[in-house]
Amino acid sequence: MAGPAKAKDDLHPAVDLLIERLRSHYPDMSGFTVVAMTGRSRDFLHHLVHSRIGGLLPTILSFDDYKTRRIAESTGRIAVPEDEAFLRFHALRCREEGLSLPPADSQRLLSFLTTIAEFSVSIEELRALDRIGPEQLDRIDCFFATLEAFRACLASQGLFYPPFEAAWFADLAPGEGDFFVGLPLMTPVNQRFFSLIPRERLFVEAPLFGPHMPTEPPEYETALSLVRRIGIVERRSTTGEGFGFTELAERAALPALLAHEIDAFLREPHIDGEQLFIVPLDERLSFYLWKFLFHPLGGQVNFAPWLPFTHFAAAHRLREAIHGGKGLAAVRRELVAELTARWNELDEADHSAFEGAITLCDALERLRPLMGDEWSQLAEYLIAVKKLRLHGKRNAPIQVVGLGDATGIPYQRAIILPMNSGIFPQKPFSGPYLNMIHLPRIYRTQYEADDLSLRQFLSFGHTTHVAALYDQVTGEAPSPHFAFLATEFGRSAVKRLIAPAPFCVPTGILTIENTDELKEQIQRHTWSFSSLKRFFTCPCRFILEEIQGVTPPPCFEEEEHANLLIGDFLHRFFAQLKGHPPAVERWRERFDKSWERDEDLQAKLPDQAVRKAIVLSHLADIAAWEKETGRLLLFSDDVTAAELELRAPFGGGRYKLKGRIDRLQLQGERQLIADLKYKEKNKVSEKGRLIDRLEETDSFDDRFQLIIYAYLALYNKRATPNRLDATHIFLRPRVRGDYEGRLAEEDLAACDATLDRIAERLDRMLALERFTPNYRSDGCAYCPHKALCLKPDLYRTGGRPW
Ligand code: SF4
Repeated sequence: MAGPAKAKDDLHPAVDLLIERLRSHYPDMSGFTVVAMTGRSRDFLHHLVHSRIGGLLPTILSFDDYKTRRIAESTGRIAVPEDEAFLRFHALRCREEGLSLPPADSQRLLSFLTTIAEFSVSIEELRALDRIGPEQLDRIDCFFATLEAFRACLASQGLFYPPFEAAWFADLAPGEGDFFVGLPLMTPVNQRFFSLIPRERLFVEAPLFGPHMPTEPPEYETALSLVRRIGIVERRSTTGEGFGFTELAERAALPALLAHEIDAFLREPHIDGEQLFIVPLDERLSFYLWKFLFHPLGGQVNFAPWLPFTHFAAAHRLREAIHGGKGLAAVRRELVAELTARWNELDEADHSAFEGAITLCDALERLRPLMGDEWSQLAEYLIAVKKLRLHGKRNAPIQVVGLGDATGIPYQRAIILPMNSGIFPQKPFSGPYLNMIHLPRIYRTQYEADDLSLRQFLSFGHTTHVAALYDQVTGEAPSPHFAFLATEFGRSAVKRLIAPAPFCVPTGILTIENTDELKEQIQRHTWSFSSLKRFFTCPCRFILEEIQGVTPPPCFEEEEHANLLIGDFLHRFFAQLKGHPPAVERWRERFDKSWERDEDLQAKLPDQAVRKAIVLSHLADIAAWEKETGRLLLFSDDVTAAELELRAPFGGGRYKLKGRIDRLQLQGERQLIADLKYKEKNKVSEKGRLIDRLEETDSFDDRFQLIIYAYLALYNKRATPNRLDATHIFLRPRVRGDYEGRLAEEDLAACDATLDRIAERLDRMLALERFTPNYRSDGCAYCPHKALCLKPDLYRTGGRPW
């Protein structure tokens, strides 16, 4: 039943009511159990009860722990912790399939099965979905068989994995002394349990809706439908006052906005206990924001989100020790000794990381019997996925929290960001043969839960600032939810261009004098396609990177960085595939092993499982196409050389050239230089000769790379004139079968002349008195040296010209 609208100041947080109830049993409340049903709010709830009542506290549990305890009581079995369940599940799969599988693959399947078990998805429901073919039916049967085999295997040892036993919970009712705070994710099982909770033992914060939210639930999804369905009290803001919405033009403005807000908050006089709550919605930003913004603020901040363990030195030490076959006991001793000796000089996060590494040593030792021959691979995987939690103070003036962490705690101001598509509300669940299209009920439930958490949080603030990014080049756009919310609260989003303060100061333009010394350094340089491209399009970038050796900070390594890592891996993969004919048949079996064993990918590539699936689908498409057409290009067995490094002089010996040719292969009577590119095929202008494009100042056509390779191969007598072709192979084709970018015969024939013209252009540039940046050059938008060359709009990469 929906409650009447209330004014903001009338409302007491539901937690206050809980505390009043408990207080009547003070000082001994140990006979009660309080269950925090929303997100990760258990710790905040514990803090509130502890600090506001004291005495013998009730047991305070998260909803997951409560469910696990109840299932254990009713089955008489013992719950298996998450890590152990994963290892047992992985071992079962490897046993059943008779081969060693990548751990990430098992993790992906385990979370998929967890979702379908939590949402009580039956095999019949999945089989009856549209667009499910016979091969997929087999896989669905296989998923459920694996799930049942895992349950049976655990049951035979008196164990259970809680998410897979959710059905047990459906038959249970709340215990007599149990109080419940918040709303759980309304899966069918949770919804049934929720309906059995007596209202006097249920404490739910009323969510806040804006003045323009329709009275009745609208067509689109909102928490209002959920609230009405389950009958909890709701609140309405009458004016929308206190809410602000901002659109930022780039990611670098996020810390700038936060710094500005924190500064303003800390400068203002405050009544004791007033707090600023910051909710970073994108978990990927947590380490970045912590490192550059929150960490320097020390004890003024309580940072509640998780941090990735792998970013810390202790994690590297542990991983290297495992990699090098060093015993865990020895690493543990070293870590303990170092932590003790350096305690005072390490900061709080390093303490956590060291403690985390030491506990992980113990856990790995304990779990070792479950890891069998794959011990080191699994141990490295567990290190990679481990998260750290810092122990801050709940009364610090700045609280950085996740949504659902802190519902019910009044705050002075909140900043929620970035409310972008795919970040909030979170992306719909998508697994093999199960996604939002197939099972909209899962998406709807998650969406409503996210929206409800947000609105419950909004209930307790005096003012709230919601920000989103609108960066068209990087594809970051505010989510429709951001726009709905602004409209609902009667506010329009303000577009702000905020740049980090230190970068606002410089003005002017970078000018690099072409001194004799610099001239000589450039003259001596051994040119490659990429260095020529840099020098011709922006000589300043070339000098910064290749002469002065300036390297960009790691925070600039983003999506392109991931694609580069994959591209490098594919070069290695296809180079070693050369010795394993028939490549078109055997590539698949070798791919998984190569991927899992590739140290670079394992150490640096984020979202591996998803990226691997994407790469695999592109390669599988190309392989199928080549088999169908009988024209083996990428999967050719006639590769005569791979990763061929060649050098040659050019321009009459004035300059030096180098290049690494991905592959030389035979095609009938002819030889082919093939260069692999992990990107989509780019459109090239077929008009005119390539050599005539050599004087362009803003771009350097990719086809010059093939010309350079052909020149190197011919000069080094690795190819025969008139029998040579050259092509790019694009490994992410947009259109099936369209993945080749072959160099025109006429352009190839002009190979020597083109190199002469390149030398002439170098001569002319070397004679210049000074070099200046070229803001119109290709790649300038993504260049990491904008602060050095003083590009006027700094880190802005495009988007609307505000
Ligand atoms: S930002 Fe643009 S102009 Fe500046 S160095 Fe990089 S590529 Fe050159």
